[in-house]
Amino acid sequence: MINLILFGPPGSGKGTQAAYLVDKYQLLHISTGDLFRYEMGNNTRLGMEAKRYIEKGELVPDEVTIGMLRNKVEMHPEAAGFIFDGFPRTVAQAEALDALLAESDQEVNALLALEVDDEEIVQRILNRGKTSGRDDDNDETIIRNRIDVYKRETTPVFDYYDERGKSQKVDGLGTIKEIFERLCAAIDKLQPSR
Ligand code: AMP
Repeated sequence: MINLILFGPPGSGKGTQAAYLVDKYQLLHISTGDLFRYEMGNNTRLGMEAKRYIEKGELVPDEVTIGMLRNKVEMHPEAAGFIFDGFPRTVAQAEALDALLAESDQEVNALLALEVDDEEIVQRILNRGKTSGRDDDNDETIIRNRIDVYKRETTPVFDYYDERGKSQKVDGLGTIKEIFERLCAAIDKLQPSR
């Protein structure tokens, strides 16, 4: 099994790349952002709670996010491995993920961090906002807050896995194909857990 964390600031191309990686490596893609949007679209309790944070560009509290992620992972015991996209976003989430995977003798094999500078991110997200229908993609103040939250709360997750020898930086600029090939080169060097 291979479990990957696709890491990087909002708008760095995680979702786009995850779709290609899933196809090539037959992994299950879990995007906590997509899961929250699904819940919001159905007006569930979880969705309504998450909306209060998402519309400001803040993180949804760890206990809510970790509970939702655990449910999704446990629904797929058949998976050959996972690509986590947009999760973990805090060190507490990283610790919870490690503990969850350890329950089935699994681990995170690598964290691949897409590197894209702030101004490129703002432009990409505003551009995506024209078609994504996401309120949090259409307001530059919210976008900049998401970037600040990423730097403050999420970059420590890179260090957490770096200390365990698992973090790798990948240049997130270029064509979709170029970035995909860089990610594949990193993944092909990994040793599956078992
Ligand atoms: P994304 O689609 O990954 O950009 O996520 C959209 C929004 O959902 C984020 O700005 C957060 O408000 C929320 N969200 C997604 N994933 C997480 C997470 N792992 N922890 C906390 N909040 C999250």
